[in-house]
Amino acid sequence: MTFAALGLIDPLLRTLASLEYSSPTPIQAQAIPAALKGRDLLASAQTGTGKTAAFALPVLQRLLHEGPKLASNSTRALILVPTRELAEQLLQSFQRYSESLPLRSYAVYGGVSINPQMMALRKGVDVLIATPGRLLDLYRQNAIKFSQLQMLVLDEADRMLDLGFADELDQVVCALPSRRQTLMFSATFAAPVRQLADGLLRDPLVLDI
Ligand code: AMP
Repeated sequence: MTFAALGLIDPLLRTLASLEYSSPTPIQAQAIPAALKGRDLLASAQTGTGKTAAFALPVLQRLLHEGPKLASNSTRALILVPTRELAEQLLQSFQRYSESLPLRSYAVYGGVSINPQMMALRKGVDVLIATPGRLLDLYRQNAIKFSQLQMLVLDEADRMLDLGFADELDQVVCALPSRRQTLMFSATFAAPVRQLADGLLRDPLVLDI
């Protein structure tokens, strides 16, 4: 199996080659073609399986091909994560994979000053990685708008629930357009995760790898 066979475009294939990713991992092989077609996804995947590229590559490719020009204070793809550390890590991954693309990624999280984040969001960002609490603060202060949102990803959904983010997640999702693609990743498919998935996903492809 090759990355080209999954439907990825040349600029991404060249980036993957330069990173010396020779072939897709199992989660990438299954998730990428479905996500590129616009399908919702529920995937169980631990860290180390290559799950980040499994969602980052299709998110970047779809943003490149679709949608209007980015408006100020807007984002086209929202990646929700439980912790600041994961937000920073995902930002690095998105930046690495989008090196050759005209797409901008940014991360917001609590525990640091909100003002620089508000400034950075003014021009809009194609991909916004966020912890739920800080994202809500920014939304309430009109620093971020979701009218252009096309894609939502929840990474480590089980940990977000374990950390008590269920209410914040609900409030964020209420503010998003209902016409969107949603990808959800979780280490486990425990009952609360399934319940969250039922509310968020439309006819998802379920990958239990
Ligand atoms: P993740 O599970 O997303 O945290 O990724 C684990 C590690 O595997 C990261 O360091 C990635 O850069 C690397 N990685 C992801 N996909 C591939 C691949 N197809 N081939 C080689 N390395 C990969």
